[in-house]
Amino acid sequence: MLYGGLEAGGTKMICVIGNENGEILERATFPTKTPEETMPLMIDFFKGKEIKALGIACFGPIDLDKNSKTYGYITSTPKLAWKNYNIVGAFKDALGVPVGFDTDVNGSLLGEITWGCAKGLSDAIYLTIGTGIGGGVMTNGQLLHGMLHPELGHMRLAKAENDPFEGVCPYHGTCFEGLAAGPAIEKRWGKKAVELADNDEVWELESFYIAQALATYILTLSPKIIILGGGVMHQMQLFPLIRKKVVEQLNGYINTKEIDNIDEYIVPASLNDDQGIMGAVKLAIDAV
Ligand code: ADP
Ligand code: ZN
Repeated sequence: MLYGGLEAGGTKMICVIGNENGEILERATFPTKTPEETMPLMIDFFKGKEIKALGIACFGPIDLDKNSKTYGYITSTPKLAWKNYNIVGAFKDALGVPVGFDTDVNGSLLGEITWGCAKGLSDAIYLTIGTGIGGGVMTNGQLLHGMLHPELGHMRLAKAENDPFEGVCPYHGTCFEGLAAGPAIEKRWGKKAVELADNDEVWELESFYIAQALATYILTLSPKIIILGGGVMHQMQLFPLIRKKVVEQLNGYINTKEIDNIDEYIVPASLNDDQGIMGAVKLAIDAV
């Protein structure tokens, strides 16, 4: 059986044909322009491939409330051409198959839970640290939506001592994303994150903020694993720093086998950057 998967991002749209074993059989990438320009290219890709369903892991904010009139819409995105766009409806009309829909980060989490490093777990978090910071959450085997969907990147953090940085989040200044996403690193240090690989000071501070956020997720959501992806997390030296600081910040309060085994608790994404599209394929499988 074949399924379509779409990882819809602010810069590119990755379209794939996959199967229930998580194999990706065909893929195409289109730049994210306007819906008028980009939708026909994607529809052409999926048409005639005999897919049973389509899954979309989408940038947001999006409406995931099945009782809402605007379910399946991209809502208040800064990508203005896509604001209030009914992406689920457009694909349903064009392809005539069921369409599964969730956030890009829930998609990545679903990919990891189905075929990757979180296989079989019922409670997990996938956090991406890239152009922005966002996270997907599964609790008790369900992807968490709630009122909207979690926005794990916009929580306030305590500033490090002597950190004068004003932050770059247009809404909150020094929220987690404003302090620690790729553009914040670049603004703070005046160089792209990848060019700062050898500067220990950068990663000490970066890991301080990431660890603070993770400690809060651990205390509030009680995940059994935390998976870290996104461009910034390609700096693998961050992992030991983050693990050490999470343990320090929890300060002995949480005593579980997971925290004792922190190297296997806070881990990199495991599907070679295909976690999002593989999760999209799983959203399609689940939509049938
Ligand atoms: P997006 O979030 O737009 O989907 P990415 O996850 O690749 O895309 O994130 C892009 C951000 O990550 C940029 O700010 C970039 O500077 C940063 N980044 C990309 N690759 C690396 C790297 N190898 N090391 C550190 N930072 C990186
Ligand atoms: Zn913010």
